[in-house]
Amino acid sequence: MRILGFLSNEKEPKITSYYLTLNDKNIMLDYGTPINDPIKLKSIDLIFISHSHMDHIYGLINDCLKLRNDARIIATRTTKKIILGLLSHGLIETDNIQMKIIRLSKIEELLFDTEYDYTDFKLTLYQAGHTFGSSMILLDGEKKIFYTGDINFYPNSKLLSYILPDNIYADYLLIDGTNVLRNDFKKQSLSHIKKMIETYDKFYINARAEKCVMIAKYLGIELDDKKKIYYEGDLEWFLDILIEEGYEPFVSLKIRVDNNNLYKSQEGIYLSSVLFREYNNDYNIGLHISMNDYVLFFSHFNSSVKILVGHFFYKDMKKMEDVSYYLMKEGENLV
Ligand SMILES: [Zn+2]
Repeated sequence: MRILGFLSNEKEPKITSYYLTLNDKNIMLDYGTPINDPIKLKSIDLIFISHSHMDHIYGLINDCLKLRNDARIIATRTTKKIILGLLSHGLIETDNIQMKIIRLSKIEELLFDTEYDYTDFKLTLYQAGHTFGSSMILLDGEKKIFYTGDINFYPNSKLLSYILPDNIYADYLLIDGTNVLRNDFKKQSLSHIKKMIETYDKFYINARAEKCVMIAKYLGIELDDKKKIYYEGDLEWFLDILIEEGYEPFVSLKIRVDNNNLYKSQEGIYLSSVLFREYNNDYNIGLHISMNDYVLFFSHFNSSVKILVGHFFYKDMKKMEDVSYYLMKEGENLV
């Protein structure tokens, strides 16, 4: 067994990809960066995609037509739908989009908390809470490996918090937190938005589709009826997925979908994703677990678990003094 952590570069340090060999099968744990080595590319047997963010999927989008036909790709159904939606709505810049949609339509949809038998090993997905459909994976083969992807924690949230049983046994816990900060970061950008809203009668927010939905939810809770919140029509495909996948609470607040500019003349907050790239706004509204909550996360595992720490986590590493861990270095076998 070996786990290779790779491959980011100086410009994009937070891209996430791990190449794991377990029971002689080669498994990608997320696939953020393209693989240039054709031998390595053809060696891949199984790809696990934890969630639909670009730093976890861009390599897969780029390479998917070059993979072996029998290379299996697994994710939750929500993650699969969002990836296909991003592609079909032109929200990912890539070539051969129609062919890629066909290839990625073969992503196998796995349920949470269900053990699947993959002949050489078993695997189970758990809810990660980081974004809609995001998951963690436990691989049970010659060793037991638990990989997190990005995770989030809210004590009373059923939809946007990780959910784990109390006693998970793993030999290795591979944590990949691309943005780990303290608790207060979760509300910072939101108070900035609220200040802007108080200043202007009409307010436009351009963000990634999921961020629009989360901003709307938080604002919807806190704004009362002072200002209406409108989703622009370009978000409808995303809202449809959320409804199909059981995330209605994020769709059904005091929010109108603006399909035909009916509400355009009115005061309010307008949310859209089409201009997101142009304006390059991003809103940090709490998709990641805080440093304060990691001890609780570790408590779900056996005390003998070896903790391997991935990207970006190191920024706040000094706060993990009580925990022994191994800090990932790129391209190095971690085990
Ligand atoms: Zn993410």
